Amino acid sequence: MADSSIFSKIRAGEIPGDILRETERVFVLRDIAPQAPVHLLVIPKSEQYRNVVELAAGDPSLLAEMVRVAGELAAEHAAPGDFRLVFNTGPDAGQTVFHVHAHVLAGALTEGSLAN
Ligand code: 5GP
Repeated sequence: MADSSIFSKIRAGEIPGDILRETERVFVLRDIAPQAPVHLLVIPKSEQYRNVVELAAGDPSLLAEMVRVAGELAAEHAAPGDFRLVFNTGPDAGQTVFHVHAHVLAGALTEGSLAN
């Protein structure tokens, strides 16, 4: 079996990380290298899907839950609750972790940000 992703290792407590929230199916991690004042990652607990295209095809309700949680986080962490939701998809688009995750970015974005 393949090794767990870095995100699963953090969730399991094998390596440190700042987990802000868990629902039944997703968890929220503060990005270690923030590219905006608010930079959170919404991650399914399952590693079944490598990217958002696979996720949308395989489990649209899980994708919808990720979007709902992203909206809740933005309402809590960003005034007035506006945010960007980024799914890097494929290495040429900057994806480095192949366990699907949504970047929730809010506030003034820094130069070279994922979202620009
Ligand atoms: P991707 O490049 O795959 O879209 O996003 C991966 C994200 O995971 C990056 O923004 C990166 O900063 C973040 N990341 C990578 N390793 C760690 C880690 O060990 N801890 C945390 N909290 N975030 C990480």
